Amino acid sequence: SGHWNLYKENMFITKYEKRDFGVKPMNCPGAMLLYKSSSKSYKNLPLRLAELGTVHRQELSGVLSGLFRVIKFTQDDAHIFCTKEQLESEIINIIKIFQEIIDKFNFKEYRFTISTKSEEKRTKYLGDDKLWKKAEESLESALKKLKTKFNKEPGEAKFYGPSLDVQIKDSQGREWQCSTIQLDFNLSSRFDLKYINKTGKEETPIVLHRVVFGSLERFIGILLEHTNGN
Ligand code: ZN
Repeated sequence: SGHWNLYKENMFITKYEKRDFGVKPMNCPGAMLLYKSSSKSYKNLPLRLAELGTVHRQELSGVLSGLFRVIKFTQDDAHIFCTKEQLESEIINIIKIFQEIIDKFNFKEYRFTISTKSEEKRTKYLGDDKLWKKAEESLESALKKLKTKFNKEPGEAKFYGPSLDVQIKDSQGREWQCSTIQLDFNLSSRFDLKYINKTGKEETPIVLHRVVFGSLERFIGILLEHTNGN
């Protein structure tokens, strides 16, 4: 996944029978391997894999804070593998889940933001321009179809794909980001994920990472703040 080179300093490393091991810092690589464990055709897509995945990250002890920042936490993670054509309806499904859950916890105000790539720094992004355009359009048109307002934040996208974030406001007027949909053009190619399309040719699926609560521990912290501890 590339984490070993880029993310090693945030991982808990151990040795076992002279081999290096890292205590799982992210759920994504596991989902990619599960996808790869058997061959896939367009009939298998969309494939939605959900996981309450516990992850571990080294943080400086000075930045740890109550339930908000901890070194071991559980994410309500899911990875969705789909075709370009399925992208928009998958995004709509996820947004509906976001809305249902945020409403259930009685958060009255929330807003959606779409992070897109910046036109000036075109070269620093992975994946071809057409795919980016299609992905950004799918996020936008999904929100429009649901008659949901949103802001666009050009230049805020990660190098591997555009994203949709939800900022919820608690009873004290503070904003928190929990739910997110991240499109990913990086992991599918790094793990060489494929499916056979209708004409018998290999294609690369689009990968969506999504969390509703994000870290369950952090969400419980936000909920306690929102309800003044009740
Ligand atoms: Zn992921």
